[in-house]
Amino acid sequence: MANSEPIGILRFTLSPKRELYSYKVVVRHEPGVITRICTIPELKKVDVQHLTYAPISFKKRGRVSLFLVADFCGSGVDPEALLEKLKRTKGVIDAELDKEIFPGLIIDDFHFPIYLMKDYRAIIVGQGMLSGLLEGIRDEMGPAGEAFLYHQGFEAGKMVVDYWLPMVQSIVGIRTKRELWDAMSKVIKALGWASIETLNWSDDGIGIRIRADGLVECQLLKRHMGSHMFRGFISGILSRLFGKELLAKEVKCISKGDEYCEFLTTEVFVGER
Ligand SMILES: [Zn+2]
Repeated sequence: MANSEPIGILRFTLSPKRELYSYKVVVRHEPGVITRICTIPELKKVDVQHLTYAPISFKKRGRVSLFLVADFCGSGVDPEALLEKLKRTKGVIDAELDKEIFPGLIIDDFHFPIYLMKDYRAIIVGQGMLSGLLEGIRDEMGPAGEAFLYHQGFEAGKMVVDYWLPMVQSIVGIRTKRELWDAMSKVIKALGWASIETLNWSDDGIGIRIRADGLVECQLLKRHMGSHMFRGFISGILSRLFGKELLAKEVKCISKGDEYCEFLTTEVFVGER
């Protein structure tokens, strides 16, 4: 996949063969704190697996929280010694070493809620739940379930545009439909749905061809083929941007053996979605 690297957003992990320890740290939001933490001699000897550096709350400016996970295997470092060094580091307000629930289980129960941006909440849906949501409804309802998924995606796409467009335009001014779509397609990738490439664009919204590489909806399918929620989602976005109802048809799909999923927009005819 061009210009892409996978990322792990550690919320929990189970690795009993490692010596994993996790730390919850609160620091002052000021330059140099992270550098001082990262140069603690004990930390330099262990294998850092994860470091989240994020505001605790947008309402508590001046404080930033960290969730640090490290593998101490073979390091000779005492986890309590690192904790003491963290606590004594300039700029650190508080530090805590997580107690093990059982060996190898690490959970970030420190950071909650999750925000994508200021006051804009998000949840992370793992592939187990996603498979249940996407395939279970198709198992139970058949073609009606596929239509349901499409409409859910369509309404979600419209709502995303309705939520973000006024905010974006108030900050950066009026932009073209293509610029807005390019920004949204990057957000779609940033949220983990698919890597989007727009192969063809049109001024009337018809004949837009969109390639989705690694589309999670189709990658997870085991008992069904083809996207419905995601094609509804991009149909909703493009319909809002163009001010008329557009339909994204999936003309290629990884669940059918193609290398990519591809979508082509057409006008909506009565009874066709
Ligand atoms: Zn597909």
